[in-house]
Amino acid sequence: MSFQLFEQDTLFLQRFLKSAGFYGAELDGIYGKKTDAALNAFEARTVEIAETLSKFDARSERNITSLHPMAQQAARIFLKKVRDAGFDARIISGTRTYAEQDALYRQGRFGSPKPIVTHAKGGQSNHNFGIAWDIGIFQDGLYLGESSLYDKAAEVGLSNELEWGGHWKKFKDRPHYQLATGLILANVRDKFEEGQAIV
Ligand SMILES: [Zn+2]
Repeated sequence: MSFQLFEQDTLFLQRFLKSAGFYGAELDGIYGKKTDAALNAFEARTVEIAETLSKFDARSERNITSLHPMAQQAARIFLKKVRDAGFDARIISGTRTYAEQDALYRQGRFGSPKPIVTHAKGGQSNHNFGIAWDIGIFQDGLYLGESSLYDKAAEVGLSNELEWGGHWKKFKDRPHYQLATGLILANVRDKFEEGQAIV
């Protein structure tokens, strides 16, 4: 995600801003003054959070700043703990629009030669609601796809407000973290699409 992509998908942007409390007007998919003001308020809050907590590499920053402000705070606190413990962890994925999620879902399917990377279509991933991020762990500058270091990083970084994909029963997703909402995904999606608070 990027702010530019959000702006190309105005309905998604409005849902994101409304469920995060920055937008109070209609979810009409039209980029007007109220959407612009809400985006500015969101970006100002994002800068404020970064300045009060730690800052990281450019890619982590890009992904953190795509999150709901509460997830931004949690992600910064999490990443600092993990990095302070000696892991070269970075946040390599943040919020995705439904369209971006659908594009990712197509990877490895429908004749795409690349490996399958997700089981979720648009609206089926917590990445689509601003509350989830994935980490990458690097060693000597190289990205580690699979490593026991992901378990060790979770031991250091997990807190009560977070859920870790490594705890999932069906499909373990060790790089994945999300804010604990106490809701099932379908309820999170309904709230997000209505612009209601998720956390
Ligand atoms: Zn994930």
